[in-house]
Amino acid sequence: MDGLDSGSQNSRKFVVTSPLVHSGSSRQECLYMNTSFRSGIFSLELDVLKKHPVLDQLARLFARLHSSKMAFIDSAPFIKALELDNGVQQDSHEFLTWFFSLLEQSLSHSKSKVPGARTVVQHLFRGSMSHVTRCSSCGKDSAASSKIEDFYELELNIKGLNNLEESLDDYFSQEALDGENQYFCESCQKRVDATRCIKLRSLPPVINIQLKRYVFLPKTTMKKKISSTFSFPGQFDMGKWLSNSSSSYTYELAAILIHKGTAANSGHYVAHVKDESNGQWWEFDDETVSKLGLHPFGEKPGKTSNKDDQKSQGIPTAGSVANNNNNGHQEAALTSTSGGMFSSTDAYMLMYKCTSKDGSGTENNKIIEITNDSLPHYFLDEINELNA
Ligand SMILES: [Zn+2]
Repeated sequence: MDGLDSGSQNSRKFVVTSPLVHSGSSRQECLYMNTSFRSGIFSLELDVLKKHPVLDQLARLFARLHSSKMAFIDSAPFIKALELDNGVQQDSHEFLTWFFSLLEQSLSHSKSKVPGARTVVQHLFRGSMSHVTRCSSCGKDSAASSKIEDFYELELNIKGLNNLEESLDDYFSQEALDGENQYFCESCQKRVDATRCIKLRSLPPVINIQLKRYVFLPKTTMKKKISSTFSFPGQFDMGKWLSNSSSSYTYELAAILIHKGTAANSGHYVAHVKDESNGQWWEFDDETVSKLGLHPFGEKPGKTSNKDDQKSQGIPTAGSVANNNNNGHQEAALTSTSGGMFSSTDAYMLMYKCTSKDGSGTENNKIIEITNDSLPHYFLDEINELNA
Protein backbone atom coordinates (compact mmCIF):
# COMPACT_ATOMS: atom_id res chain seq x y z
CA MET A 1 0.00 0.00 0.00
CA ASP A 2 1.26 3.36 -0.85
CA GLY A 3 0.31 6.99 -0.88
CA LEU A 4 -2.38 8.85 0.88
CA ASP A 5 -5.25 6.75 -0.25
CA SER A 6 -4.07 3.71 1.65
CA GLY A 7 -6.89 2.12 3.55
CA SER A 8 -9.27 4.95 2.90
CA GLN A 9 -10.41 5.38 -0.65
CA ASN A 10 -12.77 8.20 0.02
CA SER A 11 -11.85 9.85 3.25
CA ARG A 12 -9.49 12.74 3.14
CA LYS A 13 -6.75 13.15 5.65
CA PHE A 14 -6.10 16.41 7.27
CA VAL A 15 -2.85 17.37 8.79
CA VAL A 16 -3.07 19.99 11.43
CA THR A 17 0.04 22.05 11.66
CA SER A 18 1.15 24.66 14.08
CA PRO A 19 2.37 28.01 12.82
CA LEU A 20 5.09 27.84 15.47
CA VAL A 21 7.19 25.41 13.57
CA HIS A 22 5.83 26.15 10.14
CA SER A 23 9.04 25.52 8.33
CA GLY A 24 9.15 22.06 9.80
CA SER A 25 5.54 21.16 9.42
CA SER A 26 5.30 21.52 5.68
CA ARG A 27 8.42 19.47 5.32
CA GLN A 28 6.92 16.42 7.02
CA GLU A 29 4.73 15.74 4.03
CA CYS A 30 7.67 16.00 1.66
CA LEU A 31 9.52 13.50 3.79
CA TYR A 32 6.54 11.20 4.14
CA MET A 33 6.15 11.06 0.37
CA ASN A 34 9.74 9.89 0.01
CA THR A 35 9.38 6.11 0.05
CA SER A 36 12.95 5.34 1.12
CA PHE A 37 12.83 7.82 3.95
CA ARG A 38 9.48 6.56 5.17
CA SER A 39 10.73 2.97 5.08
CA GLY A 40 13.82 3.98 7.03
CA ILE A 41 11.68 5.54 9.75
CA PHE A 42 9.36 2.50 9.84
CA SER A 43 12.32 0.18 10.27
CA LEU A 44 13.38 1.69 13.59
CA GLU A 45 13.02 -0.35 16.77
CA LEU A 46 10.73 0.81 19.52
CA ASP A 47 13.56 1.35 22.02
CA VAL A 48 15.28 3.74 19.62
CA LEU A 49 12.05 5.67 19.20
CA LYS A 50 11.55 5.84 22.95
CA LYS A 51 14.87 7.55 23.39
CA HIS A 52 14.16 10.18 20.79
CA PRO A 53 10.82 12.00 21.07
CA VAL A 54 11.14 13.66 17.68
CA LEU A 55 11.72 10.37 15.89
CA ASP A 56 8.97 8.70 17.88
CA GLN A 57 6.43 11.35 16.95
CA LEU A 58 7.55 11.44 13.35
CA ALA A 59 7.12 7.64 13.10
CA ARG A 60 3.67 7.91 14.70
CA LEU A 61 2.64 10.65 12.33
CA PHE A 62 3.87 8.62 9.35
CA ALA A 63 2.05 5.55 10.66
CA ARG A 64 -1.19 7.50 10.81
CA LEU A 65 -0.73 8.98 7.37
CA HIS A 66 -0.01 5.47 6.15
CA SER A 67 -2.85 3.52 7.68
CA SER A 68 -5.33 5.62 9.53
CA LYS A 69 -8.89 5.86 8.31
CA MET A 70 -9.36 9.02 10.27
CA ALA A 71 -10.22 12.09 8.28
CA PHE A 72 -8.21 14.16 10.67
CA ILE A 73 -4.62 13.66 11.62
CA ASP A 74 -3.22 15.81 14.35
CA SER A 75 0.45 16.59 13.94
CA ALA A 76 0.51 18.61 17.17
CA PRO A 77 2.40 15.91 19.14
CA PHE A 78 5.15 15.93 16.53
CA ILE A 79 5.32 19.71 16.62
CA LYS A 80 5.45 19.57 20.41
CA ALA A 81 8.32 17.10 20.33
CA LEU A 82 10.15 19.41 17.97
CA GLU A 83 9.64 22.33 20.27
CA LEU A 84 10.91 20.36 23.24
CA ASP A 85 14.06 19.52 21.40
CA ASN A 86 14.35 22.65 19.42
CA GLY A 87 13.32 25.41 21.82
CA VAL A 88 13.29 28.39 19.57
CA GLN A 89 12.10 28.71 16.08
CA GLN A 90 14.91 28.81 13.63
CA ASP A 91 14.92 29.85 10.05
CA SER A 92 14.08 27.21 7.55
CA HIS A 93 17.67 26.47 6.54
CA GLU A 94 18.88 26.13 10.12
CA PHE A 95 15.86 24.02 10.95
CA LEU A 96 16.51 21.52 8.20
CA THR A 97 20.17 21.16 9.09
CA TRP A 98 19.29 20.69 12.75
CA PHE A 99 16.48 18.24 11.99
CA PHE A 100 18.53 16.07 9.63
CA SER A 101 21.51 16.04 11.99
CA LEU A 102 19.24 14.86 14.80
CA LEU A 103 17.68 12.18 12.62
CA GLU A 104 21.04 11.04 11.38
CA GLN A 105 22.37 10.81 14.91
CA SER A 106 19.28 9.01 16.20
CA LEU A 107 19.15 6.55 13.33
CA SER A 108 22.80 5.66 13.89
CA HIS A 109 21.80 4.09 17.23
CA SER A 110 19.32 1.83 15.51
CA LYS A 111 20.02 -1.87 15.18
CA SER A 112 17.60 -2.12 12.32
CA LYS A 113 18.01 -5.10 10.04
CA VAL A 114 16.59 -3.25 7.09
CA PRO A 115 19.57 -2.49 4.86
CA GLY A 116 20.26 1.20 4.65
CA ALA A 117 17.84 2.27 7.36
CA ARG A 118 20.52 3.49 9.76
CA THR A 119 22.08 5.69 7.16
CA VAL A 120 19.00 6.75 5.25
CA VAL A 121 19.39 10.46 6.05
CA GLN A 122 22.97 10.83 4.88
CA HIS A 123 22.46 8.58 1.88
CA LEU A 124 19.36 10.38 0.75
CA PHE A 125 20.03 14.01 1.57
CA ARG A 126 23.70 14.60 2.24
CA GLY A 127 26.01 15.98 -0.39
CA SER A 128 29.43 17.53 -0.06
CA MET A 129 31.27 20.63 -1.16
CA SER A 130 34.47 22.57 -0.56
CA HIS A 131 35.26 26.24 -0.26
CA VAL A 132 38.26 26.70 -2.51
CA THR A 133 40.59 29.71 -2.33
CA ARG A 134 43.22 29.86 -5.07
CA CYS A 135 46.21 32.19 -5.20
CA SER A 136 46.40 34.09 -8.46
CA SER A 137 50.21 34.36 -8.23
CA CYS A 138 51.34 30.79 -7.59
CA GLY A 139 48.11 29.01 -8.47
CA LYS A 140 48.05 26.98 -5.25
CA ASP A 141 44.91 26.32 -3.25
CA SER A 142 44.71 27.22 0.43
CA ALA A 143 45.06 24.36 2.93
CA ALA A 144 41.39 24.69 3.88
CA SER A 145 40.34 24.21 0.26
CA SER A 146 40.70 20.44 0.46
CA LYS A 147 38.32 20.23 3.40
CA ILE A 148 35.11 18.42 2.47
CA GLU A 149 32.00 19.90 4.04
CA ASP A 150 28.63 18.18 4.19
CA PHE A 151 25.43 19.85 3.17
CA TYR A 152 21.77 18.87 3.36
CA GLU A 153 20.52 21.80 1.37
CA LEU A 154 21.76 24.44 -1.05
CA GLU A 155 20.75 27.94 -0.10
CA LEU A 156 20.53 29.99 -3.28
CA ASN A 157 20.19 33.70 -3.99
CA ILE A 158 17.22 34.66 -6.11
CA LYS A 159 17.46 38.44 -5.88
CA GLY A 160 17.97 39.75 -9.40
CA LEU A 161 17.99 36.21 -10.75
CA ASN A 162 15.28 34.67 -12.88
CA ASN A 163 15.60 30.94 -12.64
CA LEU A 164 17.24 27.97 -10.99
CA GLU A 165 20.06 27.75 -13.50
CA GLU A 166 21.06 31.38 -12.90
CA SER A 167 20.91 30.86 -9.14
CA LEU A 168 23.09 27.75 -9.29
CA ASP A 169 25.59 29.55 -11.53
CA ASP A 170 25.60 32.38 -8.99
CA TYR A 171 26.15 29.95 -6.09
CA PHE A 172 29.12 28.26 -7.72
CA SER A 173 30.56 31.41 -9.28
CA GLN A 174 34.05 32.68 -8.61
CA GLU A 175 34.54 35.63 -6.33
CA ALA A 176 37.62 37.82 -6.74
CA LEU A 177 39.62 38.56 -3.60
CA ASP A 178 41.53 41.71 -4.42
CA GLY A 179 42.14 45.23 -3.16
CA GLU A 180 41.26 45.28 0.52
CA ASN A 181 40.09 41.69 0.33
CA GLN A 182 43.43 40.25 -0.77
CA TYR A 183 44.32 36.88 0.66
CA PHE A 184 47.50 35.83 2.50
CA CYS A 185 49.08 32.97 0.54
CA GLU A 186 51.17 30.59 2.65
CA SER A 187 53.29 29.65 -0.36
CA CYS A 188 53.99 33.18 -1.53
CA GLN A 189 54.17 34.42 2.10
CA LYS A 190 52.37 37.62 1.22
CA ARG A 191 49.01 39.10 0.51
CA VAL A 192 47.97 38.38 -3.05
CA ASP A 193 44.99 38.53 -5.38
CA ALA A 194 43.02 35.30 -5.22
CA THR A 195 39.74 33.70 -6.21
CA ARG A 196 37.24 31.96 -3.99
CA CYS A 197 34.43 29.65 -4.97
CA ILE A 198 32.32 26.76 -3.78
CA LYS A 199 33.06 23.45 -5.48
CA LEU A 200 30.41 20.77 -5.53
CA ARG A 201 32.02 17.43 -4.64
CA SER A 202 29.12 15.02 -4.50
CA LEU A 203 25.38 15.07 -5.02
CA PRO A 204 22.75 13.38 -2.85
CA PRO A 205 19.91 11.31 -4.36
CA VAL A 206 17.47 13.91 -3.05
CA ILE A 207 18.54 17.53 -3.19
CA ASN A 208 16.90 20.27 -1.18
CA ILE A 209 17.15 23.74 -2.61
CA GLN A 210 16.30 26.69 -0.43
CA LEU A 211 15.50 29.90 -2.29
CA LYS A 212 16.46 33.01 -0.36
CA ARG A 213 13.14 34.84 -0.56
CA TYR A 214 13.72 36.58 2.74
CA VAL A 215 16.46 39.15 2.95
CA PHE A 216 17.42 41.49 5.76
CA LEU A 217 16.77 45.13 5.01
CA PRO A 218 19.92 47.21 5.30
CA LYS A 219 20.58 48.68 8.77
CA THR A 220 17.58 46.94 10.35
CA THR A 221 16.68 43.55 11.72
CA MET A 222 13.64 43.46 9.49
CA LYS A 223 13.29 40.78 6.89
CA LYS A 224 11.74 41.50 3.54
CA LYS A 225 10.23 38.98 1.20
CA ILE A 226 11.36 39.00 -2.41
CA SER A 227 8.26 38.29 -4.42
CA SER A 228 9.69 38.26 -7.90
CA THR A 229 8.80 35.42 -10.24
CA PHE A 230 11.31 32.60 -10.18
CA SER A 231 11.33 29.70 -12.65
CA PHE A 232 12.47 26.14 -12.14
CA PRO A 233 12.44 23.09 -14.38
CA GLY A 234 10.49 19.88 -13.92
CA GLN A 235 13.69 18.08 -14.79
CA PHE A 236 17.32 19.14 -15.14
CA ASP A 237 20.90 17.92 -15.23
CA MET A 238 22.76 18.81 -12.05
CA GLY A 239 25.98 17.14 -13.23
CA LYS A 240 27.33 20.26 -14.89
CA TRP A 241 27.86 21.90 -11.49
CA LEU A 242 29.93 19.03 -10.10
CA SER A 243 33.58 20.02 -9.85
CA ASN A 244 35.32 16.79 -10.82
CA SER A 245 32.85 14.97 -12.98
CA SER A 246 31.45 15.13 -16.44
CA SER A 247 28.66 12.70 -15.65
CA SER A 248 25.08 13.65 -16.10
CA TYR A 249 22.75 13.58 -13.11
CA THR A 250 19.11 13.95 -13.98
CA TYR A 251 16.94 15.37 -11.21
CA GLU A 252 13.17 15.58 -11.21
CA LEU A 253 11.00 17.94 -9.22
CA ALA A 254 9.55 16.13 -6.18
CA ALA A 255 8.20 18.88 -3.93
CA ILE A 256 7.68 22.63 -3.70
CA LEU A 257 7.20 24.57 -0.47
CA ILE A 258 5.27 27.79 -0.85
CA HIS A 259 4.91 30.77 1.44
CA LYS A 260 1.78 32.81 0.81
CA GLY A 261 1.67 36.35 2.06
CA THR A 262 3.90 39.37 1.90
CA ALA A 263 5.48 39.50 5.35
CA ALA A 264 8.56 37.44 6.10
CA ASN A 265 7.48 36.43 9.59
CA SER A 266 3.86 35.62 9.01
CA GLY A 267 1.71 34.18 6.30
CA HIS A 268 0.71 30.78 5.24
CA TYR A 269 2.74 27.73 4.29
CA VAL A 270 1.71 25.20 1.70
CA ALA A 271 3.48 22.15 0.31
CA HIS A 272 3.02 20.66 -3.14
CA VAL A 273 4.38 17.13 -3.14
CA LYS A 274 4.60 14.42 -5.76
CA ASP A 275 3.61 10.90 -4.76
CA GLU A 276 6.47 8.79 -6.06
CA SER A 277 4.28 5.76 -6.60
CA ASN A 278 2.05 7.24 -9.29
CA GLY A 279 3.32 10.71 -10.17
CA GLN A 280 0.29 12.33 -8.57
CA TRP A 281 0.78 15.82 -7.08
CA TRP A 282 -0.87 16.76 -3.79
CA GLU A 283 -1.35 20.08 -2.10
CA PHE A 284 -0.93 20.09 1.67
CA ASP A 285 -2.55 23.19 3.03
CA ASP A 286 -2.97 23.65 6.77
CA GLU A 287 -6.40 22.10 6.95
CA THR A 288 -6.74 20.27 3.69
CA VAL A 289 -5.05 17.87 1.39
CA SER A 290 -6.10 18.11 -2.22
CA LYS A 291 -5.22 16.38 -5.42
CA LEU A 292 -3.47 18.48 -8.04
CA GLY A 293 -3.24 15.83 -10.72
CA LEU A 294 -0.14 15.33 -12.77
CA HIS A 295 0.96 18.93 -12.70
CA PRO A 296 2.66 20.48 -9.63
CA PHE A 297 0.35 23.48 -9.72
CA GLY A 298 -2.80 21.70 -10.81
CA GLU A 299 -3.73 20.30 -14.17
CA LYS A 300 -5.99 22.99 -15.51
CA PRO A 301 -4.64 26.53 -15.37
CA GLY A 302 -8.16 27.93 -14.88
CA LYS A 303 -8.98 25.68 -11.98
CA THR A 304 -6.68 27.38 -9.53
CA SER A 305 -6.58 30.88 -10.92
CA ASN A 306 -7.97 32.33 -7.71
CA LYS A 307 -4.83 31.45 -5.85
CA ASP A 308 -2.00 33.92 -5.84
CA ASP A 309 0.81 31.44 -6.18
CA GLN A 310 -0.47 29.78 -9.30
CA LYS A 311 1.43 31.76 -11.85
CA SER A 312 2.59 28.53 -13.30
CA GLN A 313 3.81 28.56 -16.84
CA GLY A 314 4.32 24.85 -16.97
CA ILE A 315 2.67 23.39 -19.98
CA PRO A 316 2.26 19.67 -19.78
CA THR A 317 3.14 17.77 -22.90
CA ALA A 318 0.13 17.11 -25.09
CA GLY A 319 -1.78 14.05 -24.01
CA SER A 320 -0.18 13.91 -20.60
CA VAL A 321 -3.14 15.35 -18.79
CA ALA A 322 -4.93 12.09 -18.82
CA ASN A 323 -7.11 10.57 -16.22
CA ASN A 324 -4.99 9.00 -13.56
CA ASN A 325 -7.20 6.53 -11.85
CA ASN A 326 -4.82 3.70 -12.41
CA ASN A 327 -1.12 3.20 -12.45
CA GLY A 328 -1.01 2.89 -16.20
CA HIS A 329 -0.51 6.62 -16.48
CA GLN A 330 2.73 6.84 -14.64
CA GLU A 331 4.57 7.50 -17.86
CA ALA A 332 2.28 10.36 -18.66
CA ALA A 333 2.87 11.72 -15.18
CA LEU A 334 6.60 11.71 -15.66
CA THR A 335 6.25 13.36 -19.03
CA SER A 336 4.08 16.13 -17.73
CA THR A 337 6.33 17.04 -14.82
CA SER A 338 9.62 16.68 -16.59
CA GLY A 339 8.62 18.53 -19.72
CA GLY A 340 7.84 21.91 -18.32
CA MET A 341 9.28 24.94 -16.65
CA PHE A 342 7.32 26.15 -13.66
CA SER A 343 7.37 29.47 -11.95
CA SER A 344 6.14 30.96 -8.76
CA THR A 345 6.33 34.19 -6.83
CA ASP A 346 6.09 32.33 -3.50
CA ALA A 347 8.07 29.10 -3.74
CA TYR A 348 10.90 29.07 -1.21
CA MET A 349 12.04 25.47 -1.21
CA LEU A 350 12.39 22.96 -4.01
CA MET A 351 13.08 19.28 -3.59
CA TYR A 352 14.48 17.32 -6.53
CA LYS A 353 15.05 13.61 -6.76
CA CYS A 354 17.79 12.05 -8.84
CA THR A 355 16.19 9.74 -11.38
CA SER A 356 19.20 8.71 -13.40
CA LYS A 357 22.89 9.22 -13.65
CA ASP A 358 25.35 8.21 -16.28
CA GLY A 359 29.02 7.50 -15.66
CA SER A 360 30.69 6.62 -12.40
CA GLY A 361 30.38 10.06 -10.86
CA THR A 362 31.76 10.80 -7.46
CA GLU A 363 31.60 8.94 -4.19
CA ASN A 364 28.57 8.95 -1.93
CA ASN A 365 26.08 9.02 -4.73
CA LYS A 366 24.53 5.60 -4.58
CA ILE A 367 20.80 5.76 -4.93
CA ILE A 368 19.26 3.60 -2.30
CA GLU A 369 15.82 2.18 -2.55
CA ILE A 370 14.40 0.61 0.56
CA THR A 371 11.40 -1.43 -0.38
CA ASN A 372 10.13 -2.48 3.02
CA ASP A 373 7.19 -0.15 3.33
CA SER A 374 5.24 -2.06 5.91
CA LEU A 375 4.06 -0.54 9.12
CA PRO A 376 6.07 -1.35 12.26
CA HIS A 377 4.28 -3.98 14.36
CA TYR A 378 4.36 -1.83 17.49
CA PHE A 379 2.05 0.71 15.82
CA LEU A 380 -0.50 -1.82 14.63
CA ASP A 381 -2.53 -1.89 17.85
CA GLU A 382 -2.63 1.85 18.05
CA ILE A 383 -3.72 2.22 14.44
CA ASN A 384 -6.34 -0.51 14.78
CA GLU A 385 -7.73 1.25 17.79
CA LEU A 386 -7.91 4.54 15.89
CA ASN A 387 -9.62 2.89 12.97
CA ALA A 388 -12.11 0.97 15.07
ZN1 LIG B 1 50.57 32.03 -3.78
